[in-house]
Formats: sequence, structure tokens, C-alpha cells
Amino acid sequence: MTPEISIEFFPPTTPEGADKLRATRDRLAALQPAFFSVTYGAGGSTRERTFNTVKEIAAAGFEAAPHLSCIGSTRENIREILQDYTAAGIRRIVALRGDLPSGVQDPGEFRYANELVEFIRAETGDRFHIEVAAYPEWHPQAKSPRDDLAAFQRKVEAGATSAITQYFYNVDAYLNFVDAVRKLGLNVPIVPGIMPIGSFSKLARFSDACGAEIPRWMRKTFESYGDDTDAIRALGLDVVTRLCEKLLAAGAPGLHFYSMNAAGPTLEICRRLGLTAQA
Ligand code: FAD
Repeated sequence: MTPEISIEFFPPTTPEGADKLRATRDRLAALQPAFFSVTYGAGGSTRERTFNTVKEIAAAGFEAAPHLSCIGSTRENIREILQDYTAAGIRRIVALRGDLPSGVQDPGEFRYANELVEFIRAETGDRFHIEVAAYPEWHPQAKSPRDDLAAFQRKVEAGATSAITQYFYNVDAYLNFVDAVRKLGLNVPIVPGIMPIGSFSKLARFSDACGAEIPRWMRKTFESYGDDTDAIRALGLDVVTRLCEKLLAAGAPGLHFYSMNAAGPTLEICRRLGLTAQA
């Protein structure tokens, strides 16, 4: 079976960024992705830009999935957003708790993502395919792996259709997570999130914050390349292609690319995986 590809963008902040994203999207369309998703800023800071980007992707004939985070929001606020997406013909949502922007204390009317999933189902029934986040290396704020797994279970039982993982570079973490979920009797597809590697220093900073582990051998090798960007990119492509090969061989149902609004790395990885033949 051909694995399903999906691709994530962030909403651009400038007209030039929007032009670049259109060009990126049109190049990535060659992969025939199941959907393009668009992130949502902490505390709703990108509400309008996410909405406009999603509408534009949908108007160009692609399936578009907005991310929607609930922390810091009210029910009324989320209700309005769901009504806007319903009116725009959107059928898929990535439902998240999100993180409070720094300095903000009030969590609002939702505490965790399972409450958002429950609310979306209560408000809109089966209209949306609901994706939720999964953490093969565990969420950094989780009290324990067992608690994090229970939190994932609550999201599924609240009505999530499928899951996308945080990125990781250790195949065993993913396989262990999928096993643990299956042992709970949950059959939702769990699609690995794939982060192509462009700049190692950026990746290292980001990974520390989101709890994704970079294996020692990778960190040491990338660090030894200093600012040799060609060597970093070449190793990044090799490492991530091998990761995807192993995941697909182990039965991953698809791949979700964190594209960072760039087409090149995702296209090259998919070309190496033989996933562009259909294009
Ligand atoms: P939850 O599933 O609610 O979990 C958050 C934490 O709370 C976990 O540690 C969990 O174990 C714990 N927990 C859950 N329920 C309980 C409970 N009842 N009691 C105690 N602890 C509990 N962020 C953005 O801001 N915008 C985006 O667009 C975005 N897109 C993302 C897409 C993907 C695929 C992924 C993997 C992450 C994304 N994030 C995004 C990051 C995400 O918002 C953060 O990781 C956030 O900290 C957690 O969101 P969540 O939906 O996983 O939360």
C-alpha cells in the first residue's frame, strides 16, 4: 500500500512569505499529499493567518487541515473558529492543547487536548477528521510515560480519528509507542512526524525545548561539521531517509513532514524513498 504523505506549513507573516509558500505548496503537490496542515500560534496569535492560509490551500484544490490549540481560549472562541472552518468547507483539524505564550498565566476554559477533542465532537459531530499529537519520546511535561499514554488514550476516547507524532530520530521509540497504544486496544493510525534537517544548530535548540532526543552519534557528527552547510544537509538527508525507510518497513501508515515551508528536503527524501513515481 502506498504510504500517505502529509505536509505541515506555518502561516506566513509577510506577502513575500505567502508567495514563497504558494510556490512551495505547488512543488510539493507532486507528492499528492493527503493534506497540507497549517500550524496555529500559541494563544491564538495566528488565528487569522492560519485561517487565511488554510482557505487559500483549500481554494487551490488541496485538502487543508488547520491546527487548533485550546489553551488560553474560551469555548465561545473555539465555537466561532469551528463555525468559520465549517463554512469554509474544511473537514480535518489537528486538535492540540498548545502552550501558553510566555507571561500568560490564565489557561482559559480548556486544560488539555482531550477536552478540545470532546468539545469539537459535541459541537460538530462527525464533521471533522480529528488528528491529535502523540509523543513517542513522551511529552516534556508528562509526569511519567504511563501518564502520557493515559493522556493519549483520553484523546482517542474523546473522538480523535488519528495521530501525528512529535518528530524523533529513534525508530524504537516509535515502535514502542505504537505497541503500547495497541495494547490498550486502540487502533488509531499513528503517523510519524518527520523533521528534515537543514540547520543543525536550530534543530538542536528546538529539540531541547520540545523534548525530542537527538542521538549522541548524530549530535557529535553534525557538530563536527561546524558551518559546513553542504555536509550538514547531505548527512541530514541520509539520516532522515534511512529513518523513513525503517518506519515504512516497520508498518508506519504514512509520513507527516514538518516542511518548515521549504519544498526541497521533503521532495528529495520522498524521491529517495521512491514516493514520487506517482507524480
Ligand atoms: P495534551 O495532549 O493535552 O498533553 C499536554 C501535556 O499534559 C502532556 O504532558 C500530557 O501528558 C499532560 N496531560 C494531559 N492530560 C492530563 C491530565 N488530565 N492531567 C495531567 N496531565 C495531563 N503547538 C502549537 O502551538 N501550534 C501548533 O500548530 C502545533 N502543532 C503541533 C503538531 C503536532 C503533530 C505536534 C506533535 C505538536 C504540535 N504543537 C503545536 C505542540 C503542542 O501544542 C505542544 O506539544 C503542547 O505542549 C501539548 O499539546 P498536546 O495537544 O499534545 O497536549
